[in-house]
Amino acid sequence: MTKPILVNDLTKTFETPAGALNVLDGISIEVAIGESLVVVGPSGSGKSTFLHIVGTLDEPTSGTVRLSGQNPFDLDEPRLAEFRNRNIGFVFQEHHLLPQLTARENVLIPRVPRGDADEAAAKRAGELLERVGLGQRLDHRPGHLSGGERQRVAVARALMNEPKILLADEPTGSLDKVNADAIGELLLELHREYQLALVCVTHNDELAARFGRLVRLDTGRFVEL
Ligand code: ADP
Ligand code: MG
Repeated sequence: MTKPILVNDLTKTFETPAGALNVLDGISIEVAIGESLVVVGPSGSGKSTFLHIVGTLDEPTSGTVRLSGQNPFDLDEPRLAEFRNRNIGFVFQEHHLLPQLTARENVLIPRVPRGDADEAAAKRAGELLERVGLGQRLDHRPGHLSGGERQRVAVARALMNEPKILLADEPTGSLDKVNADAIGELLLELHREYQLALVCVTHNDELAARFGRLVRLDTGRFVEL
């Protein structure tokens, strides 16, 4: 079984004016292709810290992270940015769409650093938008989309470069219940359809219960639920 995410004995300590803050204290987890893992835990327990490190947006204090067979922290910054761009899709609580671009152009953004935001890519962006239910909204700007629709665009954008790893940090946290349920269901469907390793952080208990694996972050460690 291929495991795009291998985390071993991960720790993270922040140096603060008040002293060292040990947020992650020895986390080990493996997530295979086609698996969905949800991380729950109280606010401030380190869920985003964990997800940022798995997403290579922050470095571990100790321990190892291997993503798709690579230790990303061995790479220099330009190579790391390229690695992240090709291998990892992100969905955050806020959609972070660019307001001046259309839905389709926003979905194309991950192609820009690769220099191949060409016609084939635009076609794929359109297909992804169709897949997330926005086939009739390709040329809408974010300001003319609902909150749920904007988050759908963000999901399509995360998949633009065909990553094997999809990370979502409270993806339904800014949505009403109907849209939250729909986005949660969409993420789970897409991870099965594209055979992704999905890791999601959420406060939404109903959503968490639908994932294949559930862990709680408790004083810096994972407790399997
Ligand atoms: P969660 O996502 O579970 O709410 P976070 O991972 O955002 O929690 O934060 C965990 C703890 O680490 C919090 O106490 C937070 O204040 C602290 N923290 C997060 N990032 C930093 C940072 N860059 N520097 C110092 N402390 C941080
Ligand atoms: Mg958080």
